[in-house]
Amino acid sequence: MNILISGAGIAGLACALELGTRGHDVTVVEYGRHLRLTGTPIDIRGDAIETADRMGLLAKIQEQRLRMSELTQFVDSRGEPVARIPMAEISDSDDDIELLREDLVRILADALPDTAAIRFGDSIETLTDRGVDGGGVDVRFASGRTGRYDLVLGADGQHSAVRRLVFGPEEDCLRHLGVYLALADLPGEARSEGANSIYNVPRRMAGVFRYKGRAVAVFQFRSEPIDYDHRDLDAQKKILIDAFAGHRSWRIPELLDAARADPGFFLTPASQIHLPSWHRGRVVLVGDAGYSPAYLSGRGTSLALTGARFLAEELERCGDDHTAAFARYEARQRPYVDFAQDRVHSGRDRMLPTTWAAIAARNKALQALGTTPDGPQQTTR
Ligand SMILES: Cc1cc2nc3c(=O)[nH]c(=O)nc-3n(C[C@H](O)[C@H](O)[C@H](O)COP(=O)(O)OP(=O)(O)OC[C@H]3O[C@@H](n4cnc5c(N)ncnc54)[C@H](O)[C@@H]3O)c2cc1C
Repeated sequence: MNILISGAGIAGLACALELGTRGHDVTVVEYGRHLRLTGTPIDIRGDAIETADRMGLLAKIQEQRLRMSELTQFVDSRGEPVARIPMAEISDSDDDIELLREDLVRILADALPDTAAIRFGDSIETLTDRGVDGGGVDVRFASGRTGRYDLVLGADGQHSAVRRLVFGPEEDCLRHLGVYLALADLPGEARSEGANSIYNVPRRMAGVFRYKGRAVAVFQFRSEPIDYDHRDLDAQKKILIDAFAGHRSWRIPELLDAARADPGFFLTPASQIHLPSWHRGRVVLVGDAGYSPAYLSGRGTSLALTGARFLAEELERCGDDHTAAFARYEARQRPYVDFAQDRVHSGRDRMLPTTWAAIAARNKALQALGTTPDGPQQTTR
């Protein structure tokens, strides 16, 4: 089949690999001018590990494995460690793999067969499904090109254009979880050693994470939904700075300065996508576009991988009957999505307690779990 995929993120590349290696003719359109490589480490968990293995990528993924969360500790205002991340609670198993998003994007892109090509700097503008007997979907691109495809996959992330065009406006399916995440580069700290730190004030966290010669300031804060222009970097920086206004303890002022200075600053809400069905006619959604579980779940990448595999396997099984294949894909993937989307609240409450008393109680509970960090508390035994 002649298949168009919107988005060259994890889901789009995984679909291109799975479908291309099964002999389909695949075009990926990515509106970025190149692969988008930013992002903090992501996780591959559970059956997504087996999926990566079936794709022939597991060894390469293992080579890039990080252990960032294990090296992360909560600190007090003097920077003294007070508790560790409870790995046993946030992991599915010891087999979970943490790696840089950019490493996974590169591994997937390098594995693409000749039957799959990526077109950068373009995006779908209109889609017209000619119906069951109409022979395909007519597409007009922002570049002015046109094309007809047997199937169109929306793998274009949380703000999917394909979803908007075929399934309706974002606000109908987006569920805001009341939290924002912001990331800023810390070039001055890239080479320094030490554990990753998270510091809390009520409803907010600021942290420093280091990996592979990079250091990143990480912020999260609780907030009602904020209306802003996704392309206006200064407006996004202002949202972060306003959220931390008046907070000067630990390293907060210095980390906010880094955010002000970073041209690659990144702000995103924690939000989920809930849709009763991920397919309509010859169009189907994969990954965050159809079922974002929010970064708080740590499972968005795993869902993108299993989704790509189930979709490709079911298209292979059902031959030309894409309607049956889409239904079977959805039946296999839905339990994974429900599981991931249900598991965001404990992560949010642990990371962003709402009062000083709740912060102290969280630390005490983590210490009781045996997650006492390295540092002064351990040396006083
Ligand atoms: C730049 C970036 C940084 C990220 N950082 C993190 C992080 O730090 N932590 C975390 O947990 N998750 C992060 N994510 C999200 C994470 O990658 C996904 O939740 C998960 O991997 C599922 O992947 P996905 O392919 O469904 O979506 P994504 O990885 O978001 O990929 C979607 C792709 O579609 C492209 N796209 C969007 N709109 C269009 C359009 N109209 N036309 C064509 N292409 C389009 C995007 O440029 C992107 O390449 C990030 C995503 C991106 C794009």
